[in-house]
Amino acid sequence: MRIDILTLFPEMFENVLGNSILRIAKEKALVQYNLFNIREYADNKRCVDDRPYGGGPGMVMKPEPIFNTIETIEKQTGTRSRKILLTPQGCRFSQSIAKELAKEPYLMFICGHYEGFDERIRIGLDITEISIGDYVLSGGEIPAMVVIDAVVRLIPGVLGDHDSTASESFSDDLLEYPQYTRPSEFRGMKVPEVLMSGNHQKIKEWQREHAIKMTAEKRPDILNKT
Ligand code: SAM
Repeated sequence: MRIDILTLFPEMFENVLGNSILRIAKEKALVQYNLFNIREYADNKRCVDDRPYGGGPGMVMKPEPIFNTIETIEKQTGTRSRKILLTPQGCRFSQSIAKELAKEPYLMFICGHYEGFDERIRIGLDITEISIGDYVLSGGEIPAMVVIDAVVRLIPGVLGDHDSTASESFSDDLLEYPQYTRPSEFRGMKVPEVLMSGNHQKIKEWQREHAIKMTAEKRPDILNKT
């Protein structure tokens, strides 16, 4: 998968893309990350924002630098990307959207800043708008990192054990069952006997039963969907 990130703050990504699973995915050549500073594609003295028509607080991101960046990249690659605009007005990000995006060969993330985007960026580009939740952050960089992390770990081969994503929270409209590791007893709290029994059928039943119980207690809204 090729991932292009259009941002005013490319340096924010270096640590996140250079560590943990996102770094491993790159080292395995399963993903390629490319950072583009929108400012470098602005016609007018690197100016990327301006005051809103009609008044109001703050500055709005101008359309030309973003269109210029995308057109330059797509001319170079000769391919069209699936474009994601990070915005609080977008559809709420979920595991099912992550699964859908993980099938794409080429994703492009466009990060906003200031008061957000000139509306013609939404109108003039074929884009998917994604929000990571009902709150407002200062920029689209952290939301892009959230989406990229959730998507990349679903690309086959990225995680050592591919089954680990199949049983994770939200994969079956359920939260994950409780997990335990050594020691078998800690401060009087014991690991359930069945998990140490070696009986795989019984362990699977226990995990399913507790995934349903956990979801009913913590997130009844998602349980009712199944
Ligand atoms: N004025 C905008 C509004 O009221 O909807 C908020 C702009 S916000 C300060 C600046 C940028 O941060 C947005 O353009 C977007 O790229 C990003 N952003 C903020 N919150 C977000 C969220 N919940 N999900 C995705 N992107 C977000």
